[in-house]
Amino acid sequence: MQLVASNEQEFVLKKFSEHYSRSAQSVRKISEREFGFGGWDKKIESRHASFMNNDELKSYLVRNTPLYISYSVAFYEFPEARPMEKKNWKGAELVFDLDADHLQLACIAKHGKGWVCDECINAVKSETMKLIEEFLVPDFGLKKEEMSINFSGNRGFHVHVSSDEVSGLDGYARREVVDYIMGTGLDEAGVFYKEGTRMRGPKLGEGGWRGKIARTFAEKLEEQKLNELGIHTRTINRFYEKKKEVAEGLANGNWDVIHLPKPEEFWREISAKLKVNLGDQIDQMVTPDATKLIRVPDSLHGETGLAARKTSNLEKFDALKDAAVFDLNGKTNGVRVKVMKAPAFRLGEQTFGPYENYTLTLPEAAAIYLICKKAAVLA
Ligand SMILES: [Zn+2]
Repeated sequence: MQLVASNEQEFVLKKFSEHYSRSAQSVRKISEREFGFGGWDKKIESRHASFMNNDELKSYLVRNTPLYISYSVAFYEFPEARPMEKKNWKGAELVFDLDADHLQLACIAKHGKGWVCDECINAVKSETMKLIEEFLVPDFGLKKEEMSINFSGNRGFHVHVSSDEVSGLDGYARREVVDYIMGTGLDEAGVFYKEGTRMRGPKLGEGGWRGKIARTFAEKLEEQKLNELGIHTRTINRFYEKKKEVAEGLANGNWDVIHLPKPEEFWREISAKLKVNLGDQIDQMVTPDATKLIRVPDSLHGETGLAARKTSNLEKFDALKDAAVFDLNGKTNGVRVKVMKAPAFRLGEQTFGPYENYTLTLPEAAAIYLICKKAAVLA
């Protein structure tokens, strides 16, 4: 086990404590939630804690500053009680945890596991927008006012749905929601097939995934957004030139108005892209488990020193800048550190590194980021 020397631990926790003393807490239904805390070795070391109100939570964070703080997506009558059954489960938010780690991105080869770049963040951001815009709102009829989105503080985003309709869903129902969104069990080969020489597929008015594939494609065609499906520009232009005919075809399940060299493959790939990629490690996901703990929105992430910042405009949200709480420009609070090894990374407007066995003065936010990643020590 790689232990960080106590100087570094003290430094980071002091900075975290100062941050918490400057910020108000605003946890919704705080008295009904279970809390858990983590340190250098584990993201959740203790749980079954509870707070009466946000002021009490704030004083705890200032005095007993943890490296990680999580809360239950569930609401309980007795959040401190144990075992779990004695808590008296009253309902739970529906939470989606989207993480760049689940997406198998090519950039991981460049910066290594445990680090993050704009490509990671943008990829997971677009999965998050797809989840909201193409599933939660149109298919489940959820309202955006009932959703809250926050950065995870490291490599992902969390979507919390708080409406009454979802609160009572049990684990089984939650799993069904996830399966639908991920298109689990959807057999693309049965959706697109050759009938003689004709390419057949779903019709606009059909229910479930079949109709969804047709409608999504029709919408992107109408709004000239086919590029979002990763289609080659030359092919896109052919679709746009015959927009009206293609749309009429979709209404009747005729998918070869535009002749493509390998139509079955092409359409199966497109429908696979419409699913939300939540990863295949389903047991690590928060969504189906109505008793899990998840990072408290706006709290600090112990592996980065960034905030799990809430955002009301995901599209414009720049995680590597907007989630920073410590000084980014280094004019006032430079911190002298020795970096063991780090790839190039961006924070705010600046790109730092790569570094290897290098001692330098960094802006506070960058120094804390590296120390939290156990890639640097105070010099
Ligand atoms: Zn990356």
